[in-house]
Amino acid sequence: MQPEVADGLIKKVGEILAPGQQVNFAFQGGEPLLAGPDFYVSFFEKVKKANIKATYLFQTNGIALTSEKCEEYLKLFKENNCLIGLSVDGPRKMHDANRIDHNGSGTYDTVMQAYKLLKNANIEVNFLTVLSKAVLTHPKLLYDFYRNSGIKYVQLIPCLPPLNETERKDNKYSMLLAAFWIQFYDLWKKDFLSGKSYFEVREFSAILSGLSGKRVETCIFPGKCSPQLVVEADGSTYPCDFYVLPQYRTGSVLSDSLEDTLRSVNMLRFAKDNPPLQSQCLQCRYSVLCKGGCRRMRQLWQSDPENCAMRLFLDHICGN
Ligand code: SF4
Ligand code: SF4
Repeated sequence: MQPEVADGLIKKVGEILAPGQQVNFAFQGGEPLLAGPDFYVSFFEKVKKANIKATYLFQTNGIALTSEKCEEYLKLFKENNCLIGLSVDGPRKMHDANRIDHNGSGTYDTVMQAYKLLKNANIEVNFLTVLSKAVLTHPKLLYDFYRNSGIKYVQLIPCLPPLNETERKDNKYSMLLAAFWIQFYDLWKKDFLSGKSYFEVREFSAILSGLSGKRVETCIFPGKCSPQLVVEADGSTYPCDFYVLPQYRTGSVLSDSLEDTLRSVNMLRFAKDNPPLQSQCLQCRYSVLCKGGCRRMRQLWQSDPENCAMRLFLDHICGN
């Protein structure tokens, strides 16, 4: 991101915030730490100068934290109270099945070294795991890995097909996902109830909140898109990080106010374009709560049209 784009973003955010409101800047990529610590030092200074109350989150593979820039990054994170999401796909064999460096070598040792450095520096860190097949088939290994690592917060992200694939070719994914969620949930719940160990699982928190009638903070439910402000390196904005494509572009921080972006034709069209629910959802006992969920996730949950992974999981939790 060029300095003028960062300036435009900070200016537009400053214009839209009401007094006392704060913003969360979430940097993700690609790999956001490739921008180098100087970029963020300058960004944070500009935010302070603009009198904006902000929190910061980075989603990273951790590799830059084991480079010569490590001390600078740790200082930056500590001083600005940053939350770090590390992309960790479980123990070595599972992680290295998909996460390799430019030489083709697994990055497990690197990411775990980054985790240790962050923990030792008392920087808040959580894990994000992509549920590839290498992970889905081993829920207990993943559960034990999290438990032994001492992590306090994890996100389990289904492995999405490319946007232009209307149907996932592999229709077994939904059954694998349901089986994974069920086994993982049982292990997690057993330890929680016996007081042996606890870490928060973002998706379980959202589902359990929804089932108990509380507000769900993530996009997992209830079947409609909330506008987001995703800003790309050239300043273009998009409504959701799953839909960073020219036809969904909602504006630019270089030329449009964020209010105009939120009211733009493409933003409204995106919200309206949610595909109609199919019979599986219309007949589902959870449709009042779920309403078909996130339209991107639904593609995966229903890769087997007869067996929605979310429905099977909700059946398990609710004892149906
Ligand atoms: S597509 Fe899914 S993640 Fe994106 S805004 Fe809609 S509900 Fe949220
Ligand atoms: S079938 Fe699945 S996606 Fe549809 S409402 Fe039920 S749980 Fe949600």
